[in-house]
Amino acid sequence: MDLATLTEATVLNVGFTQTHTQQPPSFQDMLSALQVKVVSNTFDQVELEVIGLDAPIANALRRILLAEVPSMAIEHVYLDQNTSVIPDEVLAHRLGLIPIKVDPRRFKFRKGEEVHDDSNSLTFRLHAKCPLDKPVLTVYSGDLQWEPVGDQNFTLSNVRPVHEDIIIAKLGPGQEIEAELVCEKGVGSTHAKWSPVCTASYRLMPAISLKTELTGEAAEALVSCCPVRVFDIEDSAVKVSRARDCTSCRECIRLHSEAVSLNKVKNHFICEA
Ligand code: SF4
Repeated sequence: MDLATLTEATVLNVGFTQTHTQQPPSFQDMLSALQVKVVSNTFDQVELEVIGLDAPIANALRRILLAEVPSMAIEHVYLDQNTSVIPDEVLAHRLGLIPIKVDPRRFKFRKGEEVHDDSNSLTFRLHAKCPLDKPVLTVYSGDLQWEPVGDQNFTLSNVRPVHEDIIIAKLGPGQEIEAELVCEKGVGSTHAKWSPVCTASYRLMPAISLKTELTGEAAEALVSCCPVRVFDIEDSAVKVSRARDCTSCRECIRLHSEAVSLNKVKNHFICEA
């Protein structure tokens, strides 16, 4: 296993595994060594373990996820009425950042002066007015009403914002917002509103080992110094139980450098998005 070693002040052996005498691995070699495990996949978060890549490739995948995977976002806002305290352009920007729940593969990118139709756009309407006898009306993303265009009634269903409780504006008595909102397909490198994730990150898998067997008070001191309980005591000796949870805070090597060796596996990435 190729390891980078963490010391209290620095990280050692972080360079590439490849030396000037070695040929870089071919794309096929890299693919056959690659392992991807899905650790968890929930409505708004996915965690993967990617094994067998060098850091530049793993980082390229992370950046592709942020900037090159398409999604749909509000691109044009046609305001019929805005008597709220929010300026038109700020309101339009805020609407653009609302994530829309629809499969972008069903749409084409709109090119140049192409007109909007059911193949390249989605339309929503927003109409909210605060009654005169109410002190305030909060407008939420759930107030956006999808208006199917062309065949969309038959080809799409349940098109809506991902979250219905995003606050768009607060209206005072008599204030009103009425607008038509047109979504287009785009990518995060054009504007962050098209990024399909709020962020994507990775960290290297920790590899923690004990240099010596600790028992008694020394064992308890090591176990209690770790804020995420990586160590346990079993049969009166310290054991590394949850190395994956390590946050690299370095408290264990600061206090017990004679007993603990803190490393990272250089080609094993824990990725979250
Ligand atoms: S670096 Fe911090 S989190 Fe990791 S094992 Fe040591 S004390 Fe625990």
